[in-house]
This record gives sequence, C-alpha cells and structure tokens, in this order.
Amino acid sequence: MAKKPKVAFFDFASCEGDQLQIANLEERLLDILEHLDVVSFREVSSRRGEDYDIAFVEGSITRLQDEDRLRGIRAQAKILVALGACACIGGINCLKNFLAENVYREEVYGQYARWYGTYAARPLSAVVKVDAEIHGCPIDPNDFARQVKELLLGKAPSNPDYPVCVDCKKAGNICRYDLGRPCLGIITRAGCGAVCVTQGAHCWGCRGLSPHANLDAARLVMDRAGFGRKEAQNLLRFFLGHTAATL
Ligand code: SF4
Ligand code: SF4
Repeated sequence: MAKKPKVAFFDFASCEGDQLQIANLEERLLDILEHLDVVSFREVSSRRGEDYDIAFVEGSITRLQDEDRLRGIRAQAKILVALGACACIGGINCLKNFLAENVYREEVYGQYARWYGTYAARPLSAVVKVDAEIHGCPIDPNDFARQVKELLLGKAPSNPDYPVCVDCKKAGNICRYDLGRPCLGIITRAGCGAVCVTQGAHCWGCRGLSPHANLDAARLVMDRAGFGRKEAQNLLRFFLGHTAATL
C-alpha cells in the first residue's frame, strides 16, 4: 500500500471556522482520513507532528512575526493549501487596512496597544507561494473533500472561473438588482451555489474576484441600479479589501 501523505493544519488570524467545517464532515472525514496521515490538527487531535507533506493553512497574515512562521511552514510542506477567505484573499481582516494603524490598535487593545505588533492584513500569497486555494467564508466541506481527492490523484485542485451569477441562475433565484438590492455575485468566483442569495441575502464576495471579473461592467450595473461609489466600495471592502479593485 502506498505511503499516506502526512498532513498538518495551521491557523493565523481567523475564527478557525474553516477547520471546524472540516471537523463537521464527521463520518466522511473518517473516509478521507483513511487516505491521509494527519500529524497535526489542533481542533480534532492532540497529536503534534512537525514532519508533513501537505499544509492546510487558515487565516490571514496580520503581524510581521507571522511571516517567519508561514515561511517555515512553506519550507517544510511540499504542497501548501490556503483554506478559506482570510487565507486566500485576506478576507474581513482587511477591513482594518482602511483605518490608520493607531486607530485599530487602540480599538482592539485599548491602553495596551503599544504592546501588540500588527500591520495591514494580507492573504498567504502576499508572503509565500500558495499551491491551491479552497475558497469561502466558511469553506464548503464538500469543496474541501473534492480538492483533497484531486490532490491525492496528483491533479492540481481547480476552482470555477465563472461568476456566482451562473450558480444563482441555476438555483432559480430572482436577481437582487431586480429587487433593488446590490450584489457582488457579478464579479465573484462561483462554486458556492449562490447560497447567500438563495437564502435571501446577497453575495458579499467571499470567494474572491472571479478571474475574468469585469469591474467596469459591474460599475455600470451598479450605476444603473442607483448605487453610489461609497456604497459599492463598502460592499467590495467587506471581503475584497486586499484586492486593488475599485467600483
Ligand atoms: S442576485 Fe447576485 S448572484 Fe444572483 S444573478 Fe443577481 S447579481 Fe448575480
Ligand atoms: S454567495 Fe457570495 S458571499 Fe455567499 S458564499 Fe457565495 S461567494 Fe460567498
């Protein structure tokens, strides 16, 4: 029997919700674990191993000292997979990037602000090479299972290159713009089944910009629907603050 790849999970600034999604696979997780040797996964096991082939890394980089730790993980891992919006695109941690550093430091740490180092939040790819990305906030556990299968088969894990609107149409939703509401599904990478729209909300862009996102066309759609620049920017910054995109 072929040797199982050794796998470890790590987290930086995040809620650890993506690892929780994986733990929530329950019986299916046991099937996946038959093909992997998990040497470190703090949420489900006390085992701590430093020898691993695949690193799944959740969270964004928000401190200079995080960079050294992430480079160490990169040096050890043959394959590094970014797990979730914070790791893949910077995510909501990047909201602070639009404030002066002293403002967010004092907001979080109060009178102890000077004791804690922090800097503008960024995705893993701003510091090291990332081999695969599992998008979402949180990730879809089925997407995790699919990408692990692709990795085990020696394939490069893939993501859809079309926008959420395609998923949304398949789900039979009424477009939020037709209801007088804004939505970032027009520029966001698909793969979630447009779950937020289906549940009555709108898309916030948690899966990152679609590779062929047409921001000029998106701006026109928003203009026609009567949404101003500020409203569009606020929506875009919720998850996509690290991109240079403007609407
Ligand atoms: S509701 Fe959003 S995701 Fe759905 S079609 Fe409209 S813009 Fe696209
Ligand atoms: S609809 Fe948008 S915000 Fe919701 S899960 Fe999908 S990509 Fe993320």
